Amino acid sequence: MRPPTQLFIVPTPIGNLEDITLRALRVLKEVDFILAEDTRTSGNLLKHYGIEKKLVPHHLFNEHKTIENIVDRLRAGAVCALVSDAGTPAISDPGYMLVRACIQAELRVECLPGPTAFIPALVNSGIAADHFVFEGFLPHKKGRHTRLTALATEEKTMIFYESPHRLVKALTQFAEYFGEDRYACVSRELTKMFEENARGSLKELVAHFEQKTVKGEIVIVIAGAPG
Ligand code: SAM
Repeated sequence: MRPPTQLFIVPTPIGNLEDITLRALRVLKEVDFILAEDTRTSGNLLKHYGIEKKLVPHHLFNEHKTIENIVDRLRAGAVCALVSDAGTPAISDPGYMLVRACIQAELRVECLPGPTAFIPALVNSGIAADHFVFEGFLPHKKGRHTRLTALATEEKTMIFYESPHRLVKALTQFAEYFGEDRYACVSRELTKMFEENARGSLKELVAHFEQKTVKGEIVIVIAGAPG
């Protein structure tokens, strides 16, 4: 028999509330408490599925301080789940530090498979998905130039998270560093009513998004440099 799991990492929908697994719902019902990035957002989600469970804040600003206490509770026999506002915890979200601390404390950790924004964006793009690099959010100031320069010769498909008001600036910079003819895809509002997957060269994408006020959540997928 497998030893019991003490920390479950539970992915939650990135928009469409049907995108949650039966196992995720069962685990959320069974654990002793749920660590949540934003207890209000996760509270609404749990309410939607009819789950009543104690939510404990666990976010970027307190995770350093709370990890020891959580590990102590798990060592004493408690079982908990970690959720983020949307998608998979630890993917551009808090999580990895807690996972690492639990592994070091020899507690069993289990990550359930489930929603994350970059996989549907990668697959929708039609760009080679056999090898890719997930870059998450680029640094805003310090380190941005260095990162973009290093990525200019990256031959694998590249995936970035970006906010809507920085989209045009990011696409313009990608065109400067990678060449304006480089093929890319911008996925906006994945799984939601107004999902959009805009495909074309970086130059075409800049022209497309320059014309309007960009809203919603964004993933940018860019073809790698020609080998
Ligand atoms: N943990 C999440 C995951 O597994 O994808 C990512 C969290 S990160 C703080 C939030 C970013 O994910 C957004 O700024 C956007 O880049 C991307 N994202 C989340 N939901 C999305 C959606 N429905 N459509 C497009 N991008 C999304």
